[in-house]
Amino acid sequence: MAGKELQYGPCGLFCGACGAEDCAGCREPPVDDTISNCKFKNCSRDKKIEFCCFCGEYPCKELLERMNDKLPYHLTQKPNLEYIKKNGKEKWLWVQRKEWTCKTCGARIKWYQKNCSCGQLLNAWDPLAIKILAYQFLLNSNTSKMLSFASWWIGL
Ligand code: SF4
Ligand code: SF4
Ligand SMILES: [Zn+2]
Repeated sequence: MAGKELQYGPCGLFCGACGAEDCAGCREPPVDDTISNCKFKNCSRDKKIEFCCFCGEYPCKELLERMNDKLPYHLTQKPNLEYIKKNGKEKWLWVQRKEWTCKTCGARIKWYQKNCSCGQLLNAWDPLAIKILAYQFLLNSNTSKMLSFASWWIGL
């Protein structure tokens, strides 16, 4: 089994930045029903394509909804898929691994992490992008998203 830093979802998510320690990535045997039943995973497998960006229906309605649901890490999907389409998987993985590694100590960085365990401040989310995101999010929100956003904002 490859490390998570080498894993990726067909939906354009980079597993190396995911904090779920009980999941080895959606290309390994599924750990729960959510992953087993994932539309992106199953549909791309049936179509025999590695990423949704190589599908004739890309971006389908479900993928568009996911990419625009305002959860911050889902906003990485569109740029990731566009990058993969243009530059290929290997180059994308190389860039992603570099991006989600602490420049000071080499530890893996996860989505939403603000400080590395070595003390290095992390700025994975550009402050301006966060403000735009927060604005869009609050304009179009519901309670569970608000709670998710609030816990992300205060660093839980
Ligand atoms: S959303 Fe689906 S395809 Fe994307 S990483 Fe999760 S299980 Fe895999
Ligand atoms: S973009 Fe294509 S492969 Fe991906 S979930 Fe939609 S229809 Fe399936
Ligand atoms: Zn560090």
